[in-house]
Amino acid sequence: MKSFVALIGGALMAAAMLASPAQAQQKDQAQQKGKIGVSMPTKSSARWIADGQGLVQALKAKGYTADLQYAEDDIPNQLSQIENMITTGAKVLVIAAIDGTTLSDALQQASDRGIKVIAYDRLIRGSKNVDYYATFDNFQVGVLQGSYIVDKLGLKDGKGPFTIELFGGSPDDNNAYFFYDGAMSVLKPYIDSGKLTVPSKQLGMDKVSTLRWDGAAAQARMDNLLSAFYGNKRLDAVLSPYDGISIGIISSLRGVGYGSSDQPMPVITGQDAEVPSVKAIVRGDQSMTVFKDTRELAKVTSDMVDAISTGGQVPVNDTKTYNNGVKVVPSYLLKPVTVDKSNWQTILVDSGYYKASQVK
Ligand code: BGC
Repeated sequence: MKSFVALIGGALMAAAMLASPAQAQQKDQAQQKGKIGVSMPTKSSARWIADGQGLVQALKAKGYTADLQYAEDDIPNQLSQIENMITTGAKVLVIAAIDGTTLSDALQQASDRGIKVIAYDRLIRGSKNVDYYATFDNFQVGVLQGSYIVDKLGLKDGKGPFTIELFGGSPDDNNAYFFYDGAMSVLKPYIDSGKLTVPSKQLGMDKVSTLRWDGAAAQARMDNLLSAFYGNKRLDAVLSPYDGISIGIISSLRGVGYGSSDQPMPVITGQDAEVPSVKAIVRGDQSMTVFKDTRELAKVTSDMVDAISTGGQVPVNDTKTYNNGVKVVPSYLLKPVTVDKSNWQTILVDSGYYKASQVK
């Protein structure tokens, strides 16, 4: 028995010795695959934290190291972080820009050193040195939000007129226009026919945008709208482009008595399936959110990075939509999904994105 064990032990050891040089070589290769600069806008929104973590993991799985930096919504900060990534030898840059128009000089430096750039989630505008764009179908995000309002109010069945107020995202983020235009492509016909009215008359991104997606600014604007236009009128729906903005709007509405059985909340949209908003959906304060699975975006982006670095075919599925003012940037668009009371459990919990205890 003893010798049998010794024999097996010896065989295992020999196998381990055989395997280890190969493993070591694999590890070396992994390290040789290099460093990828990942520049994220802010930690103040949970989605970007999830994006950062997802990217680090997905890149690591493919053998890269990630230099992950958050710029706390400060443009000069993001610029210097990116410049630092360039000078410390990043092979590829993955950038979710704070302001999509302010990075041209840094991207020129990157291009001069042969570093490719992937715009992550948000398009970088005004530069020829943006090689690829990984994102969700941003117009469709708006379509989902607008359609939800149309369905819940019963506008297709001829119900109405109803009141609505519109909120837009940050005017320096290209996505904000896609969200707004997508939503308006669905809502505008009802506004034109009078089935939806906007008592404030504030329409268009120049009037409804929210700098830096700031929930407190949205709350203040909602306070003003409610006191100026809803003294004796009910608000039936609010188009909100992002959960942080929705939470601000909900606080404002609560302040004037919405959220009770005789004065229920309006239909309120959102985006990103952030925890406070999923809780608000479970509670019945927020109606829906648009879920964009950051794990999928990280995966597609890491596939792009790997293809760029190894000379493979870079995955893209759209070469028409995203003109950054200088060129059309080849893009990969993922599908956004509507989440509400009826499906949050399946989409967010059963898929492992959240634990049930996080969102209740
Ligand atoms: C992203 C959204 C996010 C928003 C605010 C946009 O660029 O696409 O998912 O809600 O920024 O962070």
